[in-house]
Amino acid sequence: MQNRALKTLPSVSRCALMKLLSNKPEKAFNLVNNRAGFTECATQCGLVYNQLAQILQDVCCGLWKRRVPGCVHARVRAMKVKVISILEDNYMYLVIEEQSKQALAVDPAVPHRLLEIVKREGLFLVAVLTTHYHWDHARGNEALVNEVPSLKVYGADDRIKGLTDKVTDSQELKFNSINVKCLFTPCHTSGDMCYYVWEDECTDAPAVFTGDTLFIGGCGRFLEGTAEQMHHNLTKVIASLPQETKVFCGHENTIKNLKFALLVEPENEKVKEMLSWARARDDDDKPTVPSTLKEEFDYNPFLRLSEKAVQKFTEKMEPVEVMRVLRKEMDKFKKPKERLPPQAMLALQWGLLMSSKDHLSPAIKDSD
Ligand SMILES: [Zn+2]
Repeated sequence: MQNRALKTLPSVSRCALMKLLSNKPEKAFNLVNNRAGFTECATQCGLVYNQLAQILQDVCCGLWKRRVPGCVHARVRAMKVKVISILEDNYMYLVIEEQSKQALAVDPAVPHRLLEIVKREGLFLVAVLTTHYHWDHARGNEALVNEVPSLKVYGADDRIKGLTDKVTDSQELKFNSINVKCLFTPCHTSGDMCYYVWEDECTDAPAVFTGDTLFIGGCGRFLEGTAEQMHHNLTKVIASLPQETKVFCGHENTIKNLKFALLVEPENEKVKEMLSWARARDDDDKPTVPSTLKEEFDYNPFLRLSEKAVQKFTEKMEPVEVMRVLRKEMDKFKKPKERLPPQAMLALQWGLLMSSKDHLSPAIKDSD
């Protein structure tokens, strides 16, 4: 970058710039950035301001190999997350390193659809991050391992199909410039893991893949855990991440969650705003992921346990008790999913319907 930029300068200007850069590169950059002394510098180089600014930015980034404040060229990388809607309301994700085309999949429960996208976009699938063992998150792992034998399948629970590498709390994984920190969040299942992901030399906000632990506007059911655990997961583990972290959850259940949030906090304007936005997204058939942690603190009642309105709704003061009552009320609020007719349940138990499990997914899937 640096050589290319310098070659575009007339030789006299190149000399002047190199001199300035080799002596005081910060000063050279500030000179252009602040416009102080700009006229003198631009005249000396025989260039107009914008051209000079651009070249200096290129040169500074190239020389220092790091972000220069205010320098647009420092955005050398952009972490790309592809959101893929699957099944009834699930999401699977692809985290893509743009330069190498390496990709990580999160909860790829429809493996052939994932592989189609991987092929179409010329990607190399290197790893699978599994948030928990429920089939609507982990059912694709074995098929993917069969198709991509070098594939690493990460997760925290032995019940996860196709698991190759069991991970533990705070363990860090690295895939070229993509970094993953495993955050153990047992409660929805006893082996839930969230994944905090960021990319080196990238100015984009980091991301957290929360599976069925934190949703937009809500949280997962406590199927194998307690209110104490979910309280810890949300207020200690997830809440300690940077506020700008993007939240990618396992299901599109935002509208349902926000309707409940509005019941809890009828006066909360942020809930109302978010609910009307989510409805508009739904009308356009667009996902509501990602949100940011900062936004979740504004409207998600499970992250607002000390708010007066939330305490009033639950008639509790102690945060863990508030959490417990909130989840109980939400369980009642969400209508139970339609069950299969008894004959179909019987056939399922005998294994007669296993091959058409996809079609039965809404009724038999594990509850989020
Ligand atoms: Zn689940």
